[in-house]
Amino acid sequence: MNSRDKSTGETLGSVSESTVADVDAAVGRAAAAQPAWAEPPYTERAAALRTAAARLEAKAAEVRDLIVRETGCIPGKADYEIGAAIGELHAAAALAARPVGEVLPSNHAGRFSLAERLPLGVVAAITPWNFPLVLGMRVVAPALALGNTVVLKPSPETPLSGGSLFADLFDGDVLQIVQGGPEVGERLVTHPETAMVHFTGSTTVGRAIAAQAGGLLKKVSLELGGNNALVVLDDADLEQAAMIGAWSSFHYQGQTCITAGRHIVQAGIAEAYIAELTRRAAAVKVGDPFTEAVGLGPMINERQFTRAADMLSEAVAAGATVLTGGPGELPFFRPAVVTSVDEGMRLWREEIFAPVAPVLVVADEEEAIRVVNDTEYGLVNSVATADLRRGLSVARRLRGGMVHVNDATPQDEAGVPFGGIGQSGLGGRSGGDDNLEEFTTRRWLTTTDLPVH
Ligand code: NAD
Repeated sequence: MNSRDKSTGETLGSVSESTVADVDAAVGRAAAAQPAWAEPPYTERAAALRTAAARLEAKAAEVRDLIVRETGCIPGKADYEIGAAIGELHAAAALAARPVGEVLPSNHAGRFSLAERLPLGVVAAITPWNFPLVLGMRVVAPALALGNTVVLKPSPETPLSGGSLFADLFDGDVLQIVQGGPEVGERLVTHPETAMVHFTGSTTVGRAIAAQAGGLLKKVSLELGGNNALVVLDDADLEQAAMIGAWSSFHYQGQTCITAGRHIVQAGIAEAYIAELTRRAAAVKVGDPFTEAVGLGPMINERQFTRAADMLSEAVAAGATVLTGGPGELPFFRPAVVTSVDEGMRLWREEIFAPVAPVLVVADEEEAIRVVNDTEYGLVNSVATADLRRGLSVARRLRGGMVHVNDATPQDEAGVPFGGIGQSGLGGRSGGDDNLEEFTTRRWLTTTDLPVH
């Protein structure tokens, strides 16, 4: 399997695709390594996580170059990924030292009742191509910290930054990497020795995995797609709202789960907002991310490029107007602003995963809230307004796992409960204490025969 530079098409390197037998062997090694890895002292796990952080930091320049080429992002996004991945490792090192149980009250005289926290065993981590390093690390690091071992399968689009790169960060067999597509993923999901499946990717694949893993009574955690909205109220600061709008839709070519695919703008500010958003979109330079002043790189592949182009032309055929942007020379897609959209268009209803900002004008807050909530997804939404009280009251009525006021939809930090509801996710949240629930199970343990004097 070759890895491509997404701007030039050049081969960056190659990895061998795992067979089903390779997956079985990797799970076997991870399972064999797990009991000793979970043994005390926990300080050894914490030290291994800090060592991994130091190893990643030591090769940051090389990793930055790889992420830019393999994901087609600008260098700033690669720097963010590296910093966030190092942050995940340090946060996980601290997690290793967290209490592993609690003493429970008991109604039985003389009974000592405990809940002890235990690792799950082998965690299967299946990741997408858009943020391969950090989305892998936010599973690998906390899962390892809490005494699990991990088998990681990255997307075939990013076998190096999502897979091979992880291999020499940890010693021994605690982290195994397998490479390939759906067949390799399916074997990980159904393997009798994977105790948990953690999946980040599309809702369609997530549903299939939930059915398979759930049917086998495995723990499943799904971080899926979104069709997120930015609401611009009529009192919003125009410059700030347009900056938030441009970043929310165009950041990394709109290829994030937390991209805003819908701009819902109150009539009083609509004309000015559309003009300012269009000006900003038209000013973005698109091209090879290593070229100076380029703000947007290539689309990940031809399939995504064509899908977005088709959705745009379908919308135009149904009456929408493209004010700026659209498909350029493959693989470059210029940031687009689209008006006269209606709620039935595929462009409006589906996750577009491209730098396209469809704008719908609404009369008031009530209509905005209705439109935002009219989706099966529930990941993140934002509200732009000069009145914080108004912003919070609207924000709290928007359905989703995350909501922001005067912040763009793409936000992520270690330690926050990141995740969605509805068709955007299932299972726990990633981040902070949520990781304790995510990557451990609790056992009730009692004794009435405690040698207490
Ligand atoms: P995808 O669902 O096509 O693939 C994700 C991973 O699943 C890949 O590693 C792929 O090889 C694997 N896979 C595919 N079919 C499988 C199967 N049948 N069984 C097991 N594994 C299988 O997603 P993608 O195109 O790589 O990523 C884009 C999607 O990811 C978008 O929908 C985006 O919204 C979502 N995403 C969500 C989050 C989040 O945190 N909620 C973050 C990033 C991306």
